[in-house]
Amino acid sequence: MAAPRRQQDRCPSEAGSRQERARRDRPKGPDWFAEPGADRGQPVAVHTGDCYLTDRRRRPIDRADALRLLDSGLPACRVCRPDNDLAFLG
Ligand SMILES: [Zn+2]
Repeated sequence: MAAPRRQQDRCPSEAGSRQERARRDRPKGPDWFAEPGADRGQPVAVHTGDCYLTDRRRRPIDRADALRLLDSGLPACRVCRPDNDLAFLG
């Protein structure tokens, strides 16, 4: 998808490229993810951002959310151990 496309007149091209660059410059994704359950409802586990187990279904959360979910009894992934990263002692 390298071919440049002429922007629509009502859409200034600068806004699009700026968003794209901001996304590219971001070092990496969120540090934590919640793994949604089968019904896409309540999460079933907390993962670190680089865990390979949650490629498709993961939902990014921030540190506060990760702590809250763990505190509410949600299990931490046994592979990536987000509870270690968060220093969660519960
Ligand atoms: Zn994990």
